Amino acid sequence: MDKKCNPMEYNNATKCEVCGNITFMDDYGNTDKCPHCGWMQDGGNELMEKWHGISYPMLVPLSRAREQYRKGQKFKATFEDFINGLNWYKEMLFWHNNKYYAVRYRDTGIFLESRGAEQIYKSVDDFVNNGNIGGAID
Ligand SMILES: [Zn+2]
Repeated sequence: MDKKCNPMEYNNATKCEVCGNITFMDDYGNTDKCPHCGWMQDGGNELMEKWHGISYPMLVPLSRAREQYRKGQKFKATFEDFINGLNWYKEMLFWHNNKYYAVRYRDTGIFLESRGAEQIYKSVDDFVNNGNIGGAID
């Protein structure tokens, strides 16, 4: 009986789309963390940036990630990337001052949640303009 390797193991060498060094991907095009720059890719990040302004799973758009790498900076997402991620994934999670928060699309609006408390916004724009930590959500 032939021994098949796991298609989800990172067995295939490929070129990192950010630093250009060798990294490893599974049979579906998802890479492990690049050993040189730390980037992870899924093979579709040029289109993700074009259509949604983000990358997967790193969030930072590919062109900006390349720029940050060239400048020797860490990959860092902006608030706009966060909102683009929210619009694509319908849910974003984050830590702030050692506390865990979630922002989610729900039937009745955009929910900012933390430890059982929630604030509800009418729309993403309402969240962008009025969302804050320190009121009902601390
Ligand atoms: Zn890399």
